[in-house]
Amino acid sequence: MTFRPLQGKGFSRFRSKFRMSAPSTPSAPRPDGANPPPAGTPSTARTTLTGVKAPHGARVMELGWADGSSSRLPHRILRGYCPCAGCQGHSGAIRFHDAGDPELRDIGQVGNYALELGWGDGHATGIYTFPFLRRLGDLYGVHGDRLPEALPELP
Ligand SMILES: [Zn+2]
Repeated sequence: MTFRPLQGKGFSRFRSKFRMSAPSTPSAPRPDGANPPPAGTPSTARTTLTGVKAPHGARVMELGWADGSSSRLPHRILRGYCPCAGCQGHSGAIRFHDAGDPELRDIGQVGNYALELGWGDGHATGIYTFPFLRRLGDLYGVHGDRLPEALPELP
């Protein structure tokens, strides 16, 4: 499994298209916002990733979506909810496992549907689908840093 470095060519396109918006600004209500599509449906604007911001030294990754909203996800949250089988077993539920606040070392794109994240603690098997990242970002937007206590297991 290989990762594209953060400064790799593949993400310059994402970066140039990424629009910053204030994290505290709620997204405008959208018709498709009230009823997120069930898992397995084709990707929509809500779950189409248009930008990734993960500068070296940052503790937070920022994601831009085709519906114009953005998500902020601290490394601790992303790493803790790593969806890989090694972290989660095969129960199907995604549980928070506190692995501290590691450096985000590598980001790779997987097809047109996921990011592969490599961490400073050496863990690099997590495939984060765009819908999963969107869901995690929305939940973090609601609960903030208390998300792991509020939802030790994702709904
Ligand atoms: Zn994992």
